[in-house]
Amino acid sequence: MNASILIIDDSENQRKQIHKILLDNSIGSSFHEAADGLEGIKALMEQEVDLILCDLEMPGFDGFKFLAAKKNIEIRRDIPVIILTGNISAKNKIKGLEQGASDYVTKPFDPAELIARVNVHLKIKNLQDKLKESNEKLRELANTDALTGLSNRRVMTSELKKEFQRTVRLGKNLCFLMIDIDFFKKTNDSYGHQAGDDVLKAVADTMLEQIRPYDQIARFGGEEFAVILPETDKDGAVIVAERIRAKISELLFEGEMEGHQVTISTGISVLYGDNYDSEDDLINAADQALYRAKEGGRNRVEVA
Ligand code: GH3
Ligand code: MG
Ligand code: MG
Ligand code: MG
Repeated sequence: MNASILIIDDSENQRKQIHKILLDNSIGSSFHEAADGLEGIKALMEQEVDLILCDLEMPGFDGFKFLAAKKNIEIRRDIPVIILTGNISAKNKIKGLEQGASDYVTKPFDPAELIARVNVHLKIKNLQDKLKESNEKLRELANTDALTGLSNRRVMTSELKKEFQRTVRLGKNLCFLMIDIDFFKKTNDSYGHQAGDDVLKAVADTMLEQIRPYDQIARFGGEEFAVILPETDKDGAVIVAERIRAKISELLFEGEMEGHQVTISTGISVLYGDNYDSEDDLINAADQALYRAKEGGRNRVEVA
């Protein structure tokens, strides 16, 4: 099994013996050794580890102290620890389990038992890792608009709520942009839905190129996008919005769509101090400004 194993024991002999048993049974692909709990913690900080075998009785920093210290390392918390110990009272066994030990092997141990327990915990660790990975993928999917790869409306709404509160608390500025593609229905009608999708992607990519890393952008709905510009005043937001507007109007298409021009209309609302009661009010104000941009002839930016 491909696994990285950390062996902590004050007896070098014991470490070598465990190492040999694991190697002889083709368990583990990399091994790390430590002579006490503190060295074990250091090794844990430096290496990726899948399983820890830890002696309980060690001078100074013993197995209990190791468990207590390991608990505080967030990214290493889920690594299983099998405690190696001589005779141990039930009370101490419980104490170890409460501190985060996964299992015990009593010394002198039967190699077959050690291997069996190591295998069980490596399997659990492997399943846990896979679960974490698929949860991560699911979260990514739940937060992302599949067509454009941008964040979706749900993420944008919750991010705006956070940014709104932060901005009010710090007495700073924030601008919110509501962007809508002009006459998009015509694009679909003239060139088909697939071409419409390609336009949405091109618009999303162009907008992404025009903002700073800490600005946030999302697909808000069908052909509507929203942008949060933190710590930005009205003039700054107008510059960004005009730049996006110009870049999109300059987009070039190939094939059937050659010569087609895409334009957008943008409504901006500006939060400074406490001129809006809530993020919903900020969104509504941008929406109304967007409506005026449409009424005013489209391909333009309006500020609330
Ligand atoms: P306006 O300038 O007033 O915004 O006109 P419009 O045609 O852009 O606005 P309208 O709301 O009438 O039409 C929006 C269109 O966007 C209708 C809908 O079919 C299309 N649309 C929404 N989501 C998608 C999508 O994911 N892909 C494609 N191809 N079209 C979409
Ligand atoms: Mg010992
Ligand atoms: Mg629309
Ligand atoms: Mg539109």
